[in-house]
Amino acid sequence: MTSAKVDTPQIEYGGTDSESLWLHPIILNKALDKSQFTAYCDSEISAAISYLVEQSFRDNWNPPTDLFAFAFICLSRYEEYVIGDVDEHNRFISTSSFLSKENVLQHPIVDYVLLWFIALVKAKTNVTLELGQHRSTHLTFDIDHCWKYQHKGPVLNLLGIGKDLITFRFGQLKERLKVLTNNKIDPYDISLWLDRYDTSDTIFFFLLNNRNTYDKGHHPDNPRLKSQIKTLQETYEIGIHPGYYTMSNEQRMAEQFDYLVAITTTKPTLNRQHYLRLKFPETYRQLLQLGIKQDYTMGYADNLGFRAGTSRPFYWYDLLAETETSLQIQPFILMDMTLYKYLQFGEEQAEKAAAKLYSRCQSVNGTFRFIWHNSSPIWEKPWNKYQRMFDQYVDSKS
Ligand SMILES: [Zn+2]
Repeated sequence: MTSAKVDTPQIEYGGTDSESLWLHPIILNKALDKSQFTAYCDSEISAAISYLVEQSFRDNWNPPTDLFAFAFICLSRYEEYVIGDVDEHNRFISTSSFLSKENVLQHPIVDYVLLWFIALVKAKTNVTLELGQHRSTHLTFDIDHCWKYQHKGPVLNLLGIGKDLITFRFGQLKERLKVLTNNKIDPYDISLWLDRYDTSDTIFFFLLNNRNTYDKGHHPDNPRLKSQIKTLQETYEIGIHPGYYTMSNEQRMAEQFDYLVAITTTKPTLNRQHYLRLKFPETYRQLLQLGIKQDYTMGYADNLGFRAGTSRPFYWYDLLAETETSLQIQPFILMDMTLYKYLQFGEEQAEKAAAKLYSRCQSVNGTFRFIWHNSSPIWEKPWNKYQRMFDQYVDSKS
């Protein structure tokens, strides 16, 4: 075991006495070995997590394990390389994560560790380290379907009308005909959000792919879609939302980037994967290759909380290449579909859960970032049960 000495402040890193930060063996472990990883989860890390949650700031400020190694394991997403538990969309599932197993997924545990480290330095050296402030809330939109009925062409419209009739969805048929005859604004129209809410710092992530089972939006050559993106680009940040089959396919991803470049005439720098499909290290390597600076995919579809244990941005470390990268990860904490489809939360449950997560983000100067879809209009059923919650984190214009 080697040790490194930190000159200022004076804390020995890797020593074993009470004045030192302990060096966790995993920090020296270059191999991605599942059995070793599991062993660590079962022993030191889980003990550390319990300790951190229950006694984070108790008087005895000697940490029970290596804080840096702990943060590194969470942020690098080590477990996603070695644990193969995925859902039907090949996504790492929240219940497989050790943060979930230790029941701390709803806590920004790495941020707590950071605070703890700051307290430790202060107690030992009287040096005050500042914890930078990030924006407190951040609404971001995924635009999978720019309009529900409009600008789809006669074939898709006729098919839609036929489907409404066969499935007896007469309310939807009525709405469809009203929209198509210009007697109602399309319910997914982005202007409806812009009219109601202060969305000045939002990001719109656009899906631009040929239609397939999972990517059902408008074709990227659709002139109305292009003009919508161009208009939004004048005021808002626009990101790319690569389609379902891009997480391990650089060519497909690059094609979709080209569509956006052709529309905006600038290379996209912000990304979020459609369906949150993310595979380590392939997806992030592809994004780096294509010039992406920030990725907003880090969070779970099946649960709320802190996938990497943090509410703060961090740089992705490529574990297989053992190298730092310039890709900044911007985690999100909550998604509309998670509340509605996966957790099936009612109004009160959603409000309580969001309030807890928000206050935890606040306690670490982090960001309560959430994903909403324009296709989940908050003023209409079934989404309106979340409107009171939504309105607490997004300023209304009225
Ligand atoms: Zn999507």
